[in-house]
Amino acid sequence: PVAQIGVTGLAVMGANLARNLARKGFTVAVHNRSPQRARQLLADHGHEGAFVPAEALTDFVASLQRPRAIIVMVQAGAATDAVIDQLTPLLDADDIIIDCGNAHYADTRRREETLRGLGLRFVGCGVSGGEEGALTGPSIMPGGAAEAYATLGPILEKIAARVDGQPCVAHVGSDGAGHFVKMVHNGIEYADMQLIAEAYDLLREGLWASPKQIAQIFRQWNTGELNSFLVEIAADVLEHTDAATGRPFVDIVADIAAQKGTGRWTVQSALDLNVPITGIAEATFARALSGSVDQRRAAADAFAHAGGGHALTVSDADLFVEDVRRALYASKVVAYAQGFDQIDAGSQRYGWKIDRGQVARLWRGGCIIRARFLDHIAAAYTADPQLPTLLVDPYFATAVADGAPSWRRVVSEAVWAGVPTPAFSSSLAYFDGLRRDRLPAALIQGLRDHFGAHTYRRVDRPGSFHTRWSGDRGEAAA
Ligand code: NDP
Repeated sequence: PVAQIGVTGLAVMGANLARNLARKGFTVAVHNRSPQRARQLLADHGHEGAFVPAEALTDFVASLQRPRAIIVMVQAGAATDAVIDQLTPLLDADDIIIDCGNAHYADTRRREETLRGLGLRFVGCGVSGGEEGALTGPSIMPGGAAEAYATLGPILEKIAARVDGQPCVAHVGSDGAGHFVKMVHNGIEYADMQLIAEAYDLLREGLWASPKQIAQIFRQWNTGELNSFLVEIAADVLEHTDAATGRPFVDIVADIAAQKGTGRWTVQSALDLNVPITGIAEATFARALSGSVDQRRAAADAFAHAGGGHALTVSDADLFVEDVRRALYASKVVAYAQGFDQIDAGSQRYGWKIDRGQVARLWRGGCIIRARFLDHIAAAYTADPQLPTLLVDPYFATAVADGAPSWRRVVSEAVWAGVPTPAFSSSLAYFDGLRRDRLPAALIQGLRDHFGAHTYRRVDRPGSFHTRWSGDRGEAAA
């Protein structure tokens, strides 16, 4: 056997990961269910490095040095289970299966447990960066046993993105931790994109600016604290002209945001963990709303001449642009703070011991949400691993407090003008909720005790209490 690592599943992601490995000097065994893909890979890119193609899975496995390391890059769900089931009888103790697909972390936990029982190692591994990242350096989030990472780490570190000389890969925690972190990454990506879209909408409505002009504003923003891949490519998209019509590309695209489900998974998990990830949830629901075509048409007709709202009135264009920029940054800080809270909650629930500073570091390059401010997030969690919320880290506390007046102006103008800003406004509401001295939750406790004797705690002494609402309204210790 000559191959140091194998890749099965050679659609765009698997083929590019295999090429990345080969270009870094590894001898890579390659396999795909339909052999044509392996042949095509060799024909198109065989000169890039040492590939060992195999048409039968047995030959693929036999070509690998032990302990074998096999990357599975197929569709998540049943396809991944099918491939694992075919592989396991062919493997020996300590061989490693690395699932780099977008698996749900619960599936990864189940698979890890099953394979551990068979004496094999299973690493659920999040990979972000799309096809380009897979080829040139993705952000890689492996979970699974630490011993598996000892074998795998040196390989993954060679193919991952690098920032300041550091590879964007690290063992994030046991069993499903890698896919959990990747899931939250995608959730944050939803929030980030929604926030950018809201900023674009406000600039367009407020300034009557053309997409090209807004692209210039985004390019300017991209030189500062908002510097990120998504802001950069938002400028690209806004600058683009549709060849067929000569119109701005963004005006000829149907305004229905699709989704493959990782945002939904993130929100479902957050509900289970009781973590308020309002930014990600609003972003996910905003995509759903965009797809409610019949309802949108009916409502647009019904409220064409009613329903309030006026044109955004902007008296000082520069101030408005700066307000939107600050509102975007503050909302973005909230979205990331919530995402990292969810990672912490998942880590505690499943005993993963995830280091949030490390997660921020491995998101600095390669992945879709790569952004300059992740340096500050990494620094914040490194300085205080128990940080109660990112919002109180001194750097972010200042950023959010300084941005708050802009944030409030933008959200109130948007509400007044009838421009929907679900992520901007819910992030501001979250910030205000968090910092509020007293919340109306006290009334909710009263209501719960009134209709269901659910009891409440008091501010002035310990214990649980119930008021006899339908009787003498006296209080009893519960
Ligand atoms: P697809 O998700 O389109 O999957 C196609 C691959 O799966 C093909 O190699 C196909 O083989 C194989 N496959 C499907 N069913 C089976 C089966 N029952 N048995 C064996 N093989 C099967 O490919 P992508 O490259 O887009 O993505 C691969 C994985 O990476 C997915 O899990 C995806 O979610 C994840 N991912 C994708 C990203 C992206 O930007 N596209 C980014 C990060 C992760 P065949 O050729 O024989 O049909």
